[in-house]
Amino acid sequence: MKEEGIKSYKIPVEAPRDLMEAYLEAKKKALREVLNHITYSRTGKAHLKFEAEDRRRLRNDLLKDWRFSKHYIDSVINSVIGLVKGWIKLHNRGKAKSKPKVTRRTIYIKSSLFSYRNGILRISIEPNKRYLEVDLRKYNWIPSNFDKIGGLILTERELIITVKREVVLKEPRQWASFDINLTNITALIDGKIVRYSLKQLYHIHRVYERKRRRIQKLSKRKPKIAKCLMQKYSKRERNRAKDFMHKLTTKIARELSEMGCGAILEDLKNIKGRILNSSKDVNRKLSNWNPRTFQFMLEYKLKWLNLPVKYVNPSYSSKTCPLCRAEMSAYGGRLMRCKKCNLVLDRDVVAVLNLQMWGLGVAPKALLEALASMMGKRLVNQKPTNFHERLPTVNPHS
Ligand SMILES: [Zn+2]
Repeated sequence: MKEEGIKSYKIPVEAPRDLMEAYLEAKKKALREVLNHITYSRTGKAHLKFEAEDRRRLRNDLLKDWRFSKHYIDSVINSVIGLVKGWIKLHNRGKAKSKPKVTRRTIYIKSSLFSYRNGILRISIEPNKRYLEVDLRKYNWIPSNFDKIGGLILTERELIITVKREVVLKEPRQWASFDINLTNITALIDGKIVRYSLKQLYHIHRVYERKRRRIQKLSKRKPKIAKCLMQKYSKRERNRAKDFMHKLTTKIARELSEMGCGAILEDLKNIKGRILNSSKDVNRKLSNWNPRTFQFMLEYKLKWLNLPVKYVNPSYSSKTCPLCRAEMSAYGGRLMRCKKCNLVLDRDVVAVLNLQMWGLGVAPKALLEALASMMGKRLVNQKPTNFHERLPTVNPHS
């Protein structure tokens, strides 16, 4: 199956100040013009009427005294139209606060504005005379096996570069399954249970939670400063959490790649609700990390390595006995016990076993052997007669 693999990287680049300022001014001017083309229906619904002719006129107008490459103006107009359309959507749903504003210093650079040869990215600033050159070979974490570079985004101090590659997803040699919890991610990889601790992520959130509480006290006396600090710390927290997740998913993707392993993940449409039910305290702790981030990152990193990802409905995955399919109930701590065959297992382990079996549609032999060895002393093996009896059963009192 052919698909597109995508990866993005940030690299430190000092953006040309004059271009940045001129681009921002052009955007402000374009915004004023485009906003004039909004009409309102009798019910107050906004609608944008900006036609090809309007666009041509605006383009010509913006190109007067524009010494930079012309394509930047197209990018200005596109981004402003996108901004206004986004605002109209919000407005028509009654969710827009004030009119859209242009404040961010970011430039979207279309593919017509740069070339890439022998590791050098060459971005046109002024036609035929001024370029911004970036040597991508200096950044060895950027893969060189990409087919093309998608758009670039330039901020004041960074260049965000997106690389694309056609990937051919093959049926992997084997599959690993992942169960995402509050404090760890449990995986079943090559018949072994592996736990990735999320304690560090926890710690990050705790630290910033404390900072936020202190700022809240300040907010009565100095609301403006408090708001500003709050934004700063929230951003920093998000960045640290993201950084942690990137490192973790890169590590896992590499491990899976070495074993030729695809990933089976939980279909998490409802996970936040599911995990959050337990208690208010848990709510607070979890509120800032989204399990989907882990999945999203792992998926695109695996895809880049030609490895597929499968999603499985996780309902009852930690309550169904992986051996006999009967219901399991809590058995103290994190343990679960099967009401029928007495199997006792850690609930995260139950979940990854089930996810793997459900994802594969079979109960693979290696998996069951792994299960048997995992249960160790708890196991009382019975004489194998048929498929079900060959499976290990457990004596909870041993
Ligand atoms: Zn059972």
